[in-house]
Amino acid sequence: MQERLVRQNIVDAAHLLADSGMLFRGEHANLSARLDDTHIVMTRGGSIGHLSTDDLAVLDLNGVLAHGDAMDPTMQEVIQMHTRVYQARGSVGAVIHTHAPHISVFAVAHQPIPLVYEPLLRFGVTEPIPVVPWAPRGSDASVGSIIDVIQNHPGLPAVMMANHGALVFYQDPISAARLLATLDEAAELSIQAIALGGAKELPEQAVGAVRERMAAFGSHR
Ligand SMILES: [Zn+2]
Repeated sequence: MQERLVRQNIVDAAHLLADSGMLFRGEHANLSARLDDTHIVMTRGGSIGHLSTDDLAVLDLNGVLAHGDAMDPTMQEVIQMHTRVYQARGSVGAVIHTHAPHISVFAVAHQPIPLVYEPLLRFGVTEPIPVVPWAPRGSDASVGSIIDVIQNHPGLPAVMMANHGALVFYQDPISAARLLATLDEAAELSIQAIALGGAKELPEQAVGAVRERMAAFGSHR
């Protein structure tokens, strides 16, 4: 895909995240998208509230700047949180990290987000979203825990980092942003349902049934 188009897709996804309330008050987030087999395009700074196509850097999968403007120094520590996900799973086309307001509640509580919300099935989520243990952001310990989950749960498109926030990895920036928003809906509903006795898990056969209907009717959410 052309670099110009990849840059625009990331900006569109950032605006979608902002419009859907997925940026907490600090508007902190980082986004990246695959450019080709060995390169990604990634946000250069930590705030994406008013992202433009110039606010992005092109890196190789070792995190080395390929061309154009460099990353902000504060962003260096999170680069491998993106690059190693692309290395670990070849199908990933985009990675998004935010402090989405309801997902982050589960992250600080060290609780997995349960599988109670059917729209998540449409993104291929068929198990609870786990929390990886806290370690400094972007450190080998933190990224190593994320990569372990990715390798041990081949279909899982998201994790939470304890006491921090969310990381989703999906086909492209827009669908990754939609997945993040849907996951935040699931988290919000799960919290609200506590007032009514708690959310109930989807029945065992739900995953297969939704897959069949998606095959018949498409994946419209
Ligand atoms: Zn963060």
